[in-house]
Amino acid sequence: MSASTSPYDAVVIGGGFYGAVIALYLARQRGFSRVCLVEREHALLQRASYNNQARVHNGYHYPRSFTTAYRSRINLPRFVRDWPEAVKTNFIKLYAIARRNSKVTARQFERFCRETSAELERADASLRALFEPRLIEDVFLVREYAFDSSKLAAWAMREISEEGIEVRLRTRAETISQMPGDLLQTALRDADGKSSTLAARYVFNCTYSGLNQFGGDFPGTRTQLKQEVTEMALIKAPPELENLGITVMDGPFFSMMPFPSRSLHTLSHVRYTPHFHWNDERGIDPYARLSDYHRESRVDRMIRDVGRYMPAVYGAKYVDSLFEVKTVLTKNETDDGRPIFFERHAGLPRCFSVLGGKIDNIYDVLEKLDAEPLDAPVAPLQSTFSR
Ligand SMILES: Cc1cc2nc3c(=O)[nH]c(=O)nc-3n(C[C@H](O)[C@H](O)[C@H](O)COP(=O)(O)OP(=O)(O)OC[C@H]3O[C@@H](n4cnc5c(N)ncnc54)[C@H](O)[C@@H]3O)c2cc1C
Repeated sequence: MSASTSPYDAVVIGGGFYGAVIALYLARQRGFSRVCLVEREHALLQRASYNNQARVHNGYHYPRSFTTAYRSRINLPRFVRDWPEAVKTNFIKLYAIARRNSKVTARQFERFCRETSAELERADASLRALFEPRLIEDVFLVREYAFDSSKLAAWAMREISEEGIEVRLRTRAETISQMPGDLLQTALRDADGKSSTLAARYVFNCTYSGLNQFGGDFPGTRTQLKQEVTEMALIKAPPELENLGITVMDGPFFSMMPFPSRSLHTLSHVRYTPHFHWNDERGIDPYARLSDYHRESRVDRMIRDVGRYMPAVYGAKYVDSLFEVKTVLTKNETDDGRPIFFERHAGLPRCFSVLGGKIDNIYDVLEKLDAEPLDAPVAPLQSTFSR
């Protein structure tokens, strides 16, 4: 549609998990009848929402950020309730504490779990035997899950089409500009290079790594972002590790998590998963930077180091790597916290930028949206998100 025909209630840019859920929220909870979701890939949830570690966080990962731990504890049960078909619970999850170079000791970790009421049990001898005792101080059984991003994508596509939300795939939004009469214009370019514009009362920028790449009147985010090119190795775990998820805390260590959408495990290592990083700025297109990158895997180095702590990993078979740009708030570099960021742009007050940080933070974003007095074409139907 062109800017001259009747405007949309909202244009949502970015068809990842956040854009998809926000588009549905606007249609269902805010009564927006004309919503358009714009996505540059060929399908929904192809970028960070697929290329990640698939952990439904339950707080354990954040002993240095109480707020993130606390929000995870609240959001995990909601996520399991709302997306049960996409959550894998039937595996054993272990957190192990390294003896050296760890920012947390086993006793501190136990205390932290008590303070956040997170379930924790010492692992039995057979599970402890997987670890090298000279390097690992203690091993705990915890309650933490994995999500299946392909199932989330199928859910999103189904619900969006049932809701009558228009989806424009293989289409890139390039500029966001103010028009007369409180409308915003989003300029688009499709895969064939054809350009068009959409007029809307609101624009939601849910583009994760691409948040600051818009021209026009878009002012950029006030919050400083850091971009990191990451590699998660996909491995076929050996039988001893097949039914396990393992995280060694908290420092230059590793995680091995089930990756349900490929029936494999991801292996990530604090030293080798980040390949390089830069401070986000307009004009450095993160997607272009990643596609120009030579993507030489560091899986050998990951396995060599992980094997010192957990020798069974030498029996793993490397299958593939997921490369992605990970976007985090610069201010959380030291505490590893993952708060959301939600900005209504001062110079463009009907335009919002949203970054979730992790998948279960969707509830924190929806709470922020609930508090926004968006002038809806009809009265809000319900106050909370429901499927
Ligand atoms: C390596 C890694 C590991 C992670 N591990 C976990 C984990 O274990 N657990 C967890 O909860 N979270 C994890 N995360 C974070 C999680 O992946 C993100 O919080 C979440 O996926 C963000 O969803 P999103 O919809 O904002 O982003 P995305 O899924 O990236 O969606 C943004 C979409 O915008 C599109 N887009 C960008 N620019 C434009 C444009 N100009 N026009 C049109 N479309 C555009 C992109 O193609 C993309 O589809 C991890 C992230 C990474 C990278």
